[in-house]
Amino acid sequence: MIYAGSHISSAKGYEAMGKQIRKLGGDTFAFFTRSPRGGRAKALNVPDMKRFFAMAGEMELGPVAAHASYTLNPCAAREDLRDFTKETMSDDLSRLEHIPGNYYNLHPGCHVGQGKETGIRLLADVLNSIIRPEQHTTVLLETMAGKGSELGGRFEELREILDRVHVPEKAGICLDTCHVWDAGYDIVDRLDEVFAEFDRIIGLDRLKVIHVNDSKGERGCRKDRHARLGEGHIGREAFGRLVNHPAVQGLPCILETPNDDAGWAEEIAFLKMSCRI
Ligand code: ZN
Ligand code: FE
Ligand code: FE
Repeated sequence: MIYAGSHISSAKGYEAMGKQIRKLGGDTFAFFTRSPRGGRAKALNVPDMKRFFAMAGEMELGPVAAHASYTLNPCAAREDLRDFTKETMSDDLSRLEHIPGNYYNLHPGCHVGQGKETGIRLLADVLNSIIRPEQHTTVLLETMAGKGSELGGRFEELREILDRVHVPEKAGICLDTCHVWDAGYDIVDRLDEVFAEFDRIIGLDRLKVIHVNDSKGERGCRKDRHARLGEGHIGREAFGRLVNHPAVQGLPCILETPNDDAGWAEEIAFLKMSCRI
């Protein structure tokens, strides 16, 4: 059993997101906590969050994944930029406490010439300043394509980062299929081996969310260009195998494909129908 859904717009608030995903036939979703390009969050609408939380119970929604602005770079070289990232992410996390038990997904960031070691240290510092033991949201680091100086293209790097988090039970991983493929992991012909490697290096108990995207690039291209399912180099058969893999059972599987509502509804139905467990 999997949960399936797509990334949707948060412009109209939480209750509207619940209605939107119901319309698409999904039972989980992802959304940006604020404009993906950064900027201020909207005023906190607690009644809307409460209505959503009640609705989530009725709809039996799986956990949902809020996504941090992707322009935030937790391992930026400039201290003022890292401080801005800490403030923004802390604010996101305090707002998410109104819908407890969900996920906050972030990109590990780019070390921009400072080297991986420094990048990992700076990122761990950001994580340790934003994660509080009493919070009800788990922070997820996303597996990345490894383009440029991006951290998180290798499972080993993610493990090193997680090892430095002081509250490990509040930190996990979101695996993005396009990103791992672009980083070189063969999830088409060697899916079992990739999950075995993930388990050996990170531990499958840390895997909390799957981003389900096909890739416009060849394996190892390090480009991070998402495609609709079946329109890239991964292909529908591989996604059919993915949703039946034991490692993925019970997890939210979220589409970030370039699509319209009809396209997402079809892909959500495809994922749900393909999962026979
Ligand atoms: Zn992401
Ligand atoms: Fe993703
Ligand atoms: Fe991506």
